[in-house]
Order: sequence, then C-alpha cells, then structure tokens
Amino acid sequence: MTTGFELPTRFGTQALGGCYAPETLMQPLLDLEAAFLAASHDPAFLAELKVELRHFVGRPTPLTAAPRLAGKLGLKALFLKREDLTHTGAHKINNALAQALLARRMGKTEIIAETGAGQHGVATAAACARLGLSCTVYMGVTDMARQAPNVARMRLFGTQVVPVEAGQGTLKEAVNEALRAWAGRCDRAHYILGSALGPHPFPTLVRSFQTVIGEEARVQVLEQYGHLPEVVLACAGGGSNGLGLLVPFLGDDLRRVAVEAGGHGLALGEHAARLDGGRMGVLHGCKTLLLQDEHGHTAETASISAGLDYPALGPELAALALDGQVEVRRASDDEALAGARLLCEREGILPALESSHALALLPALAAEGAATILLGLSGRGDKDLSTYQSRLGI
Ligand SMILES: *Cc1c(COP(=O)(O)O)cnc(C)c1O
Repeated sequence: MTTGFELPTRFGTQALGGCYAPETLMQPLLDLEAAFLAASHDPAFLAELKVELRHFVGRPTPLTAAPRLAGKLGLKALFLKREDLTHTGAHKINNALAQALLARRMGKTEIIAETGAGQHGVATAAACARLGLSCTVYMGVTDMARQAPNVARMRLFGTQVVPVEAGQGTLKEAVNEALRAWAGRCDRAHYILGSALGPHPFPTLVRSFQTVIGEEARVQVLEQYGHLPEVVLACAGGGSNGLGLLVPFLGDDLRRVAVEAGGHGLALGEHAARLDGGRMGVLHGCKTLLLQDEHGHTAETASISAGLDYPALGPELAALALDGQVEVRRASDDEALAGARLLCEREGILPALESSHALALLPALAAEGAATILLGLSGRGDKDLSTYQSRLGI
C-alpha cells in the first residue's frame, strides 16, 4: 500500500492544484500515481502505448502549413497541428486511450468517465471497446439532449450512458456524479478524467499523456520550416490540449498563448474567461482560478463551444499564466464563428468550435506584429455543424 505522493502535487508560485478529495478516494489516487509512475518507466507499457497511438489513434498527426490563410492575415507563416485528424476527431483520445491502457495494467475491468459535449465520452468509449473494458459515462441531461449524436456513438461502442439530472444538467454535475460513482467502485473501476483538472495526480497524468502533441509539433515545425515560430497558440477549456501543445515549448524563447471562451458578454455568467474573471477556489478536487459569485458559489458560464464552457481553468495552466509563462486571452462567440469561417474558406478545413477560439485570435496576433504562428487545431467541426448552420445562416 502506498502512503504518500511522490510527484509534486502543486503548481507555480501560488501552489495551485492539490488533492481535495474525500477520504474514500485517497487510496485510489495514491495507487493511481504509483501505477502511472511505474508505467512511465516500463518499456513494455511505453511500446504498447506507442503502437496504439500510431495504429489506432493515427499519430503522428500532420503539421499542415496554411499559406492562404496566412496571406489573408498578413502572416509570414502559419502551421496547424492537426488533432482534428485523430480517430474520434479531437485530442481527447490521446489521454483516454493512455488512461485505459493504464487501467488495464492496474487490473481494473471497469471504466467510469464524465462528458460534457461528448467528445471525451466518445473517445473513452472507443478506447474501452478497443481494449475490452466495460464503460459507463455520466452525462448531464441538458448535454445529452443537445449532443444526441455523441450519445448514439457512445452507445454503439457498447458504453452505458447515465443521465445526470442535477443542477443545470451539464458537465459540472456529471463530474460530481462520476467522482461519486468511482468512490463506490474503486476496487475494480478506474475513472478516466477528460482534462487537466481534478485532484492530484489527474492534472499531471492528463498533461503528460497530451504532451505528445507539442513534442511532435516542435520536431515537425523545425523539419518543415527550419525555425521555431514566434507564437504557439491553443484554446483552453480545462487546459489539456493547451498544455499538451505549449509545455514542450516552455524552454523556448517565444510567446505561448491560450485562448478562453469570451462567450457573449463581459458580465459573470456570460463567458468562461477564468483568468480575468476568476478568483482562487476549489472545484472538483483542485485549487485553481474559478468563476464564482460574491458568495463563493460556482458561477454559471456561457460559450458557444461546449468544450470550453467550464468554470475552472486547470491548475497547471492557471499557474503558468499567473507566473508569466503563458498569456491567456479570450475570444467571443462571434469572433470564434468568424475564425472558423476564415479557415473553412481559405484552407478547406472545418474546425471544432473550441479550436475556432484559437483561430479567432490570429488577426489580433498579426496586428501585434507576430509573423510566424503555430496553432493547435484541437478537433474537427462535424459535431458543430448544426451550430454553424444556424449561427452563420448557411
Ligand atoms: C474538450 C475539447 C477542448 C477543451 O478541453 P481542453 O482540456 O482545454 O483541451 C478543446 N477542443 C476540443 C476539440 C475539445 O473536444
């Protein structure tokens, strides 16, 4: 039995993160960290992960130059890291597959997960079908109604989707329910958390399984362009694709930028911009920047993209922002729609609404004098077609 964490549980000068978990979950979290550390040093695990990432997920994903869009914006060069081309259509599968392999190695037979828009649920359902693990996904009733195709995908993969009625019927409540379910079944079940959030060791685990994005991109841009870009840019919900892309560039002399959801207004409740709008608080097991009202209650959030619509910024990304390593900006719903349209028309690529927030910042970065930019295209936009249709009137 493990008795203490070995990895750092806190991030940055403000000591964000931590492990605010109920007593029943402490031993499973300690065991998870121990299993993760052992697996990280086991050549057999690393080799199996590499094979699955290559032949099931489709890695390495391409780095695509976008010269027509760059020309339109007055940039010298723009490169897109294509997580939209992974199996199931977003970066979420990198983490879901790796954690499912880890769970199987730990002797777990059941997987529990939460999902908001359904991308993490679909990725986890696919990984479980692939590895022969049974899977239960908790999802808010509101999200189930607006993301019906993803509910169908999960069911086709043999996953049980459990509706969560509490609160607004969205991601926050689904995470609560998944944590509760895990506490009751942790002897045989592993909880696959979908972003760089939650109690230690989840933020570190998820980030480490996503840094493959930035590691590949760094090698690819040097190969294809011969230099590092001036700016590396990604959207930020919980922060997993952002950390995955940006962390491998932390030692480089360039701007690292993460873009949050500016929603449709500046008032609390109208956006999910945690850096300016948030205060220190604890949600779902970690201390971080959190949108809350004057009484400390978690605030409602709004965004056109379900994947960015979460009240807390992951603790490691929040710490990097507060310590000046990453700039955090925001893009509104309308700016994201305009960003998506630009990419569609200039390059023939339909981005996820989440990724469109990163695209939305390109004109501002160009105006600030940036000439070469590497952008993380976290997912594809097929899931968002009906929103694009209604909001763009096409
Ligand atoms: C879930 C999701 C995000 C936001 O999550 P992060 O953990 O911040 O990466 C961004 N893009 C897509 C396509 C997503 O599915």
